[in-house]
Amino acid sequence: MRRVVARVVALGLCLGGMGTARADNRPAPKGPDEDGTKPALVKIAGEGMMDSHAFQYLTELSDDIGARVTGTPSERKAEDWGAGKMKAIGLENVHKEKYQLWRGWTRGTAQGELLEPIRRPLHVDAMGWTGSTPAGGAEGEVVAVNLFNIEEEVKHTSQLSGKIVLVVTKGAPKKDVDSLFAIFGDFLKAADKAGAVAVIGGQGGSKAVGMNLTHTGILGFDADFAIPVLSPTAEDQGQLERYVESGKKVRVRFNVQNSFTNGPVESANVVGEIRGRENPEQVLVVGAHLDSWDLSEGTTDNGTGSASVLASAEAIVRSGMRPRRTIRFVLFTGEEQGLDGSFAYMKQHQSEMANHLGNLVLDNGQGPVREFQLGGRDDLVVSFQAFAQSLSSIRNIAVTDKVESGTDTLPFSMAGLPGINMDQDSPEYKYTHHSSADALEAVNRDVLAQNATLMALAAYWIADRPERFASPWPVGRTAKMLRTQHQDEMLKAFGLWPKEFAEAEKKEGAPK
Ligand SMILES: [Zn+2]
Repeated sequence: MRRVVARVVALGLCLGGMGTARADNRPAPKGPDEDGTKPALVKIAGEGMMDSHAFQYLTELSDDIGARVTGTPSERKAEDWGAGKMKAIGLENVHKEKYQLWRGWTRGTAQGELLEPIRRPLHVDAMGWTGSTPAGGAEGEVVAVNLFNIEEEVKHTSQLSGKIVLVVTKGAPKKDVDSLFAIFGDFLKAADKAGAVAVIGGQGGSKAVGMNLTHTGILGFDADFAIPVLSPTAEDQGQLERYVESGKKVRVRFNVQNSFTNGPVESANVVGEIRGRENPEQVLVVGAHLDSWDLSEGTTDNGTGSASVLASAEAIVRSGMRPRRTIRFVLFTGEEQGLDGSFAYMKQHQSEMANHLGNLVLDNGQGPVREFQLGGRDDLVVSFQAFAQSLSSIRNIAVTDKVESGTDTLPFSMAGLPGINMDQDSPEYKYTHHSSADALEAVNRDVLAQNATLMALAAYWIADRPERFASPWPVGRTAKMLRTQHQDEMLKAFGLWPKEFAEAEKKEGAPK
């Protein structure tokens, strides 16, 4: 999902690649060479690298299904495709787990035209779950609003009647940008009520990355807005900003037509398992989101992750090895609307949570995996490093305890479990992310096969090592960790800070 405005970077405990001296007398953690998992991992690596179908799966998902916005018929088709692949691979208990998305949305057309001071077409696309102009379009004068002053701007929206709002960023932000972004939602509602025509501000005042690209996305967790909110190209936005800055009168015309459903729509996570041989009740979730945006075919966000989940399952099944504990492969949907699929999973499996070991997710584009981020669990870094070191002839991969809140790892981290993000080195993801460039051309098949294999190896090692990898932390410890990792402000701003966390904090007398 990755919220639109740049986030405060959480501090990870970076221990990557170093041999770690231990201050206490505990024995050094065992890696695959010592814990007996190595022979299985070697077989799995062979299957994953020598006989990979990852690129074939990615091609089918990209070209034959294409864009798959949660709750739409094409997303449903992707669910059926995913379930079919899981069965063909030989996973057990393949099924869908249905849940409701608060509201459905479908993109129509978005046309823009600069009318004054010169006349030319503008290249814009609508942000997801935003509304329409009147049929035939509407025009207005462009006025600037400063995101960094949004707390004040939201009080003066009556001046915006009949205007087209251009969101800019000036000066320094007075608050955490995630909190500003949450207030931005209130601003959009107020501007709509005041009769503003449209908002040019999909990037929240920063510019779309890349030449002549727009980037769509959601503007909050489960957030929809009746006012049309547009993402312009950087070039078009720059021109508008220069006009406004120099005091020129700017008029723009937009015709934007999108449609909402009246009520909730159904979606489903797709689930399949390799049952554990000793403790089948203990579960590691291996996941990625199957849903995508719709300006292209959703290859890098997150076709790569979905193909990796399927190919990692396949490598393990074909190796003939069965782990001690269950690996549950999940293709989540609703990620792009606010992690809806993974939050639904947590709810539906609440009674099983004590038996979960965490989840493992790949959702950072097309590049090679460079870091295992253990989702807040600093206690697991050293033992996981012993595994990561065994991969050194494939690639050096760092291990940190960073929380990744922009994908399906977050609900697991919030449950005190390691929501493990396989972070990738994807310099081109800033272009393909939610844009018309998110297509198969962006992906190298060798990198994809390697990432899928690394996913299979990590999954198998976690599920099979003799010692249980992780159990959920108590609520108070989790809340404290999320504060230390600077996730609390954002979660509170979006109303996602659970009651139990607030109560635990009160008990401990922690700062608000
Ligand atoms: Zn994604």
